[in-house]
Amino acid sequence: MGLRPNLLTRRTAGVASTTLALLLSTAAVGVVPAASAFSAAPAAPCAEPADVHSDARVKQGGSAKLDPNELTAQQVRDREADLAGALRERANFRTGAATLATVTIPVVVHVIQRDSTRAGGNIPDSLITSQITVLNQAYSGATGGAPTAFSFQLSKINRVTNPAWYPIVQGSSAERQMKTSLREGGKNTLNMYLGELSDDLLGWATFPKRKLDGMDGVVVLSESLPGGTATNYNQGDTGTHEIGHWLNLYHTFQGGCSGSGDSVSDTPAESSPAFQCPTGRDTCATAGLDPITNFMDYTYDSCMYQFTAGQASRMLTAWNAYRAA
Ligand SMILES: [Zn+2]
Repeated sequence: MGLRPNLLTRRTAGVASTTLALLLSTAAVGVVPAASAFSAAPAAPCAEPADVHSDARVKQGGSAKLDPNELTAQQVRDREADLAGALRERANFRTGAATLATVTIPVVVHVIQRDSTRAGGNIPDSLITSQITVLNQAYSGATGGAPTAFSFQLSKINRVTNPAWYPIVQGSSAERQMKTSLREGGKNTLNMYLGELSDDLLGWATFPKRKLDGMDGVVVLSESLPGGTATNYNQGDTGTHEIGHWLNLYHTFQGGCSGSGDSVSDTPAESSPAFQCPTGRDTCATAGLDPITNFMDYTYDSCMYQFTAGQASRMLTAWNAYRAA
């Protein structure tokens, strides 16, 4: 993974205020602004656990303080209680269900295009097949992390030209229309929506829920795929990161230095997202350097290469609770 030139942000003050509006509008579905944004905005009403489902990855920029991605402590508690409930439900009522140790996930890729040009979203199939390869390397541990149970198999590329869905705007009614009309398969099918995205976002994902709905899936900036044009973020790790959320992982910086953090014991706590690829970053008094090389942080693609054994275990537990047949 090579070094890349410095990131240029597209943000301006005007864009930042647009982002805040977006954050406010999405709060109702569980994407909550970081603490610093709360000074300007009231906290979202407490959502039902099932509605706390969306999470994102952002590029570094002047408005990183408006990071939309961190769940509140209460939302994490609700999600953890829901996971425990789903596991109890499985133990009590689905006693015949096999507990899987390895999982092959069928992937349906929807390429959302404005027109037939590359600038209009028409990426070649080769980027998509490269993305699947990157996912399989990341989730098998081949890039240096712990192996996970998961592998990925491309089952379909669905190309859709619809200017009304381009860019894909997080939390918009157009996003809902797009997903509910395009989504295919059951709980075990990964639907990946590729396109230009709103507000400098690299991607966002839904967490698993007990009852499948049409919003389930991941949205990824098409030019973040391996070989794309998103400088510093074009080796496919946005896909890896968003699918981590889809498999129930939080960010490594979830909860900051205190409490249960990301609910995984072998990822050292960190107080905030790390960007670029900082050396020796250590933002919490607890043991361990910040896990900047973890796929669930915000560093450059060239910097992140691993899941931990604890994350692998959490993903498999969640699969058996939520997504297994
Ligand atoms: Zn994320």
